[in-house]
Amino acid sequence: MGEFELIERFFKRPARRAALGIGDDCALLQPAPGMQLAVSSDMLVEGRHFFPAVDAARLGHKALAVNLSDLAAMGAKPLAFTLALALPRAEAVWLEGFSRGLLALADAFDCELIGGDTTQGPLNICITILGEVPAGAALLRSGARAGDDIYVSGAVVNGACEMLGQARMALEVARGTLALDAAAGTQARARLETPTPRVALGLALRGIAHSAIDVSDGLLGDLGHILCASGCGATLQADLIATNLIAACADNTLAKGLFDLNFARKMTLAGGDDYELVFTAPPSARAAVAQAAAATQATATRIGQVDAEQGVRLLDAQGQPITQRYDSFDHFKV
Ligand code: ADP
Ligand code: MG
Repeated sequence: MGEFELIERFFKRPARRAALGIGDDCALLQPAPGMQLAVSSDMLVEGRHFFPAVDAARLGHKALAVNLSDLAAMGAKPLAFTLALALPRAEAVWLEGFSRGLLALADAFDCELIGGDTTQGPLNICITILGEVPAGAALLRSGARAGDDIYVSGAVVNGACEMLGQARMALEVARGTLALDAAAGTQARARLETPTPRVALGLALRGIAHSAIDVSDGLLGDLGHILCASGCGATLQADLIATNLIAACADNTLAKGLFDLNFARKMTLAGGDDYELVFTAPPSARAAVAQAAAATQATATRIGQVDAEQGVRLLDAQGQPITQRYDSFDHFKV
């Protein structure tokens, strides 16, 4: 199968929103009047972001999900995306699975594949996504103010809680440092491999939240970006989310798991790949935040507040300071 047959067979579909889709030198999009385009890229590299053996459909899902999550964190509505793909081989079975997972999520969020690039090489997936947001309405990292509440999103899906820390737990299971029973293991793996981007919540938070970011590298690191951009600090009820995770896992951890408070803190404060939203809003907006979450089948848990004083203060369940450090992921840190 050649390059053009591959594109034709697995990725080309009739243009819908785009004025011109796949097949020319560029795609053409007509931005709606008064809207700003929100643009973001995220790359997934084999061995870095995913295991070589991961299911192709799940990989297709995740490659787009992490990009949709960036739109969610801006309060932008998904429009379209491009796919730059380096593949070692043109394997029909793999491509069928990958495109199925990718395009199913694209359809679920009404986000159209409008172009890309395809080349032979080590497996590498780069998506650039385009969304729209009314001019001036985007949720920025720089909008937090002292006194804001800090929230983290989640969801309850079929009675099971989706919360911060589960994606990292799946990674620990894969590394052999944690054992979960079948049900909890499956759920954790789904959180890692097929995350649900909180797009509807991000849209509902327009005009309510002062700032937002999605958790890709870990809560403390990602919240740190908001605080840095806003020139603020924060106090976090750190053990609120850690004990939530422990409660959700209480029946599920097997003997091999090191599931104590310190472990749960590591999962929730420094674990990555959650794709939950962390956002700030003034205390006067508490009812509006609760309503935005309820209206979008999400949860919003208040985990602390923004301070004028720089730095992040972590408090345990008794309100005492936690002195242990929990670092988020950084590709180039040693
Ligand atoms: P160019 O030579 O201008 O780079 P290509 O021959 O690479 O164009 O691509 C032909 C068309 O197919 C273009 O419209 C491009 O956007 C699209 N395309 C290439 N690879 C992909 C892909 N992986 N997914 C979707 N569209 C793609
Ligand atoms: Mg090309």
